[in-house]
Amino acid sequence: MKTYRIAAIPGDGIGSEVISAGVEALTACAKRDGGFTFAFDHFDWGSERYKKTGAFMPDNGRDLIKTHDAILFGSAGAPDVPDHVTLWGLRLAICQPFDQYANVRPTRILPGIVSPLRNVSGPELDWVIVRENSEGEYAGVGGRVHRGLPEEVATDVSMFTRAGVARIMRFAFALARSRPRKFLTVVTKSNAQRHAMVMWDEIAAEVAREFPDVTWDKMLVDAMTMRMTLKPETLDTIVATNLHADILSDLAAALAGSLGIAPTANLNPERQFPSMFEPIHGSAFDITGKGIANPIGTFWSSVMMLEHLGEPSAAARLMRAIEKVTADKSLHTPDLGGKARTADVTKAVCDALAGDNQDD
Ligand code: NAD
Ligand code: MN
Repeated sequence: MKTYRIAAIPGDGIGSEVISAGVEALTACAKRDGGFTFAFDHFDWGSERYKKTGAFMPDNGRDLIKTHDAILFGSAGAPDVPDHVTLWGLRLAICQPFDQYANVRPTRILPGIVSPLRNVSGPELDWVIVRENSEGEYAGVGGRVHRGLPEEVATDVSMFTRAGVARIMRFAFALARSRPRKFLTVVTKSNAQRHAMVMWDEIAAEVAREFPDVTWDKMLVDAMTMRMTLKPETLDTIVATNLHADILSDLAAALAGSLGIAPTANLNPERQFPSMFEPIHGSAFDITGKGIANPIGTFWSSVMMLEHLGEPSAAARLMRAIEKVTADKSLHTPDLGGKARTADVTKAVCDALAGDNQDD
């Protein structure tokens, strides 16, 4: 029987609560499937370790996880460590060297969840956002000189390479082609940012010729926020830069009901390195340790992990279990207006898995 080795990295805040819920659901999923098992290795990397040792992960950290089949990640961020230190010390320290250049964020309104958009209840909002995850505005290029002096200068330089833009564009067109509508929206700000964003548009047009069966259009990122809120049904697959897609995907998560539900995959499509799956939410200091974190974002990320591992029927089964549970309002956590606790939702998903008789 196949055993998948998963590196579990809960990180900070509610990370440990949602990752232990995720491990429970994945274990139940493997048990119901019968065709594979999981072996989880747990890593205590995060801000507590940083405060004690000065490093979020050991020097050989990436070597310890580079042969795992996938990484399940919670959140990075603590109230007493600057966010840019945490992000670069842990999350980006994994994403960038493992070349997880395609960040994929599906958004749907799950059964039982209410969108803040009037007149939008389900099928009108079914998107996948593809975020360039290796360069652009988050390339880390820049610096500060004359610190604290009146003449202080600070720069963050966006870096866009032809290779980097072409590969994310190909990934996005291929993903759009795999979905029923075969429709891609390419987001830029190529009116104001007249170098890299213009190259992005040119490469989109070039790559589009390789995908004659995919229709596509272009949007400026500011106008895109209006289209997402006023005409969600006109969108399907979306591709945008690291910064633009970061912002648009939080908007997407909110429009679909809650940040606590939204999933992400950080993919290395060539599979030279493990890919990383995580809920899009952060450490949620305000509810840490209360046992009320919504684990659905982690469960849905686990669905994406199962798809990536090549277990589509287990993935479909876990998604059915999630949708059965969200449909029941008595199983909603406080972020969805309910009273359920993380453990109640987790148990309900595990029970739904055990009771799922569909064989696909
Ligand atoms: P956040 O996502 O932690 O919280 C925003 C709000 O959403 C809070 O009210 C929180 O309680 C709620 N929320 C988030 N996830 C929830 C869940 N699963 N269930 C119920 N409610 C949930 O965002 P923030 O407050 O901007 O950031 C807090 C920390 O997390 C910061 O240090 C930030 O840098 C970090 N962060 C990390 C990641 C990541 O690791 N991928 C992503 C975002 C933020
Ligand atoms: Mn973000």
